Amino acid sequence: MEYPGNLFVVAAPSGAGKSSLVKALLELDSRLMVSISHTTRSPRGQEQNGREYWFVSEEEFRAMIDRGDFFEWAEVHGNLYGTSRAGIESRMAAGEDVILEIDWQGALQIKRLFPHAVLIFILPPSYDELLQRLQRRGEDDPEVIQTRMANARMEVAQARHFDFVIINALFETALFDLKAIVHAQRLKYAAQRRSRKAVFDALNLS
Ligand code: GDP
Ligand code: ADP
Ligand code: 5GP
Repeated sequence: MEYPGNLFVVAAPSGAGKSSLVKALLELDSRLMVSISHTTRSPRGQEQNGREYWFVSEEEFRAMIDRGDFFEWAEVHGNLYGTSRAGIESRMAAGEDVILEIDWQGALQIKRLFPHAVLIFILPPSYDELLQRLQRRGEDDPEVIQTRMANARMEVAQARHFDFVIINALFETALFDLKAIVHAQRLKYAAQRRSRKAVFDALNLS
């Protein structure tokens, strides 16, 4: 499938800072829109339906799978998560840049579907720091944190399949790196040809 805009996919072990980085990027970059995933997990304290996620029952989620509503879906830490076609297809068709915040399994599914997708993996500086961030965030029960830490080692090993790796030690440095990747992607020949078609036509470039 070929859409005119850029597609960015950000994955990370839970607590690495993925959501914070993507949120900060969106505040700086009005040309990007984030896809709101569906999930069967319960909302955390401040989360609102339709803002962080569409919170649905497992039954609803399974019905969406059966209808073919998802570009990708995966089971992560015991819950189901998916990227719906409805949420992003029209934006991608309109040439907008879309960013997905999904797990590594979903990221690899998206790469197969959209080979031009840019896969970015966020690493924490250490497992100790990852644990501290999950604890400091204060949104998950100790058992949930334990599951997420147990899964982190396997998830980190998937970074090798990604196009880019960002180490989120100092937040501002990691944000700078993320901005640089998005910017560089927009300057690629194929991306420029899509987004600056008039200039390319005027220059007789194909
Ligand atoms: P957090 O990553 O600690 O903020 O916890 P979440 O419960 O929000 O997400 C848990 C995992 O599910 C993370 O690895 C997310 O990247 C992943 N995830 C979120 N949305 C999707 C999605 O639409 N598809 C897939 N495949 N994974 C998702
Ligand atoms: P994720 O979406 O990957 O699970 P979050 O964005 O929720 O991670 O970040 C986890 C916690 O770590 C949050 O409390 C966030 O404020 C904090 N955090 C994120 N980046 C950094 C950083 N570079 N240094 C210290 N704390 C950070
Ligand atoms: P409702 O209007 O009842 O909130 O949404 C109807 C269905 O469409 C729900 O499954 C809802 O999650 C989904 N939906 C509506 N708008 C969007 C959207 O912009 N993005 C995504 N991902 N799902 C949407």
